[in-house]
Amino acid sequence: MADYLISGGTGYVPEDGLSAQQLFSIGDGLTYNDFLILPGFIDFTSDEVDLTSALTRKITLKTPLISSPMDTVTESAMAIAMALMGGIGIIHHNCTPEFQANEVRKVKRFEQGFITDPVVMSPRHTVGDVFEAKVRHGFSGIPVTETGKMGSKLVGIVTSRDIDFLSEKDHDRPLEEAMTKREELVVAPAGVTLKEANDILQRSKKGKLPIVNDNDELVAIIARTDLKKNRDYPLASKDSRKQLLCGAAIGTREDDKYRLDLLVQAGVDVVVLDSSQGNSVYQINMINYIKQKYPDLQVAGGNVVTAAQAKNLIDAGVDALRVGMGCGSICITQEVMACGRPQGTSVYKVAEYARRFGVPVIADGGIQTVGHVVKALSLGASTVMMGSLLAATTEAPGEYFFSDGVRLKKYRGMGSLDAMEKSTSSQKRYFSEGDKVKVAQGVSGSVQDKGSIHKFVPYLIAGIQHGCQDIGAKSLSVLRSMMYSGELKFEKRTMSAQKCTQKCFFPTKP
Ligand code: GDP
Ligand code: GDP
Ligand code: 5GP
Repeated sequence: MADYLISGGTGYVPEDGLSAQQLFSIGDGLTYNDFLILPGFIDFTSDEVDLTSALTRKITLKTPLISSPMDTVTESAMAIAMALMGGIGIIHHNCTPEFQANEVRKVKRFEQGFITDPVVMSPRHTVGDVFEAKVRHGFSGIPVTETGKMGSKLVGIVTSRDIDFLSEKDHDRPLEEAMTKREELVVAPAGVTLKEANDILQRSKKGKLPIVNDNDELVAIIARTDLKKNRDYPLASKDSRKQLLCGAAIGTREDDKYRLDLLVQAGVDVVVLDSSQGNSVYQINMINYIKQKYPDLQVAGGNVVTAAQAKNLIDAGVDALRVGMGCGSICITQEVMACGRPQGTSVYKVAEYARRFGVPVIADGGIQTVGHVVKALSLGASTVMMGSLLAATTEAPGEYFFSDGVRLKKYRGMGSLDAMEKSTSSQKRYFSEGDKVKVAQGVSGSVQDKGSIHKFVPYLIAGIQHGCQDIGAKSLSVLRSMMYSGELKFEKRTMSAQKCTQKCFFPTKP
């Protein structure tokens, strides 16, 4: 093992701390609280730390953070915010397939490059139709073509400026009277690059730019709002069409195949097979089915906590592994089922095996602080999935309520009796359908208001960057290679060492 020689300094420094391999060879299962990372050498500022990391074999994120597929954590508002911040949200499946697919569609439609399937109307549509579209979709910039369909001749555009001052009595007026006519429109020819189109749009000072072919037929539009979103969110996770990335969870039953089809039609980028014990013939069959039907769709399998479990899913072709069993804040699996593993050990063991096959690991559950995120990443996880830490933010589903003067939102385990009352899909994760007696694997509670993800995630990002700076790792890939080379040093924390830091969290009243 390497001792450090600082050139021109006082000579060798004796070895100190344990490598990850040594730490986990002891045999005890370790949680994130059971160890610390020894500080390294800093020769860069914290904001230089690059947090780019793989979500799956083919998808890379600039922020290694994922919101969990739980019905009190991730629907479209959370998934949009997470993707804008450089992470990703996984839409839960404790709902109908149609509802879930629609949530995915909202994320994919939030921001785009060329909008190739915009809402289009004909000159015979009415002003009232535009108001209705505004309520349903949230925008009112609608190109007008002869037939009201794409690929037909462009005859005008209607925008908020055309209808803002119209009243109820104008609702029956046809759009040909209200729209801005073709002669007045700035358009761009089909075949322009997105950059060229953006330049034309900026110069035109308009809100929308229709793109037409040689026959003046509409092929796409671009929106000024999207240029602003692009400028305001430089880390945003996007696909090649500049739409935000979005994930969705599904089960492994026969009827999940229908759910899968709807999600794919809505444009989902990654599906997460949601199972608390993923090493099953059902999951392997589902992976085979998806890979055959949708070879380009990224599939995350799990959950697993051992290399042996991981092997079967990797052999079946997963693109990422979700790691964690019984470590979630609302989870009672380890107590009830006697199965599970402390999360530090799970992450290290699975990541160390999966990296040989290029399969990234998602550390799922048990993240209570930003320090836990750094620890998960330093044990080989590529990304971190969170439930409770993101619950009770503005973007989490559900309404705030007050209890003893504290503003709260509900947070519940998907295997809790509470969640199971809502629908049957969470039952499938935690029970066999034929089970007569239900054994809950999660509990339900509430979490204090944390404000918006737009404030909270930047705090997490800065915290991870500071952690990496203290370690001396300028990027997450450097962090991982330091860990696997043995350069990164860990130390176990005794119970009294852990108690000592807890004092700092609860300072005595003055
Ligand atoms: P913390 O309060 O202990 O987290 O300290 P900081 O994160 O502010 O900085 C940690 C160390 O990084 C400092 O002691 C400096 O050695 C170095 N550092 C941070 N920012 C700068 C900077 O802007 N310039 C230089 N030269 N060094 C910096
Ligand atoms: P508007 O001025 O009311 O049309 O709305 P904005 O231009 O401010 O915002 C429209 C947003 O919705 C952009 O981010 C678009 O990418 C997005 N969007 C998604 N689908 C469509 C669509 O079919 N038509 C339009 N106009 N925008 C869409
Ligand atoms: P947290 O971030 O709150 O510590 O953990 C979130 C994770 O807990 C989820 O991503 C999921 O893997 C897991 N989880 C969610 N609901 C339940 C449940 O009811 N029981 C168990 N055992 N795990 C759950």
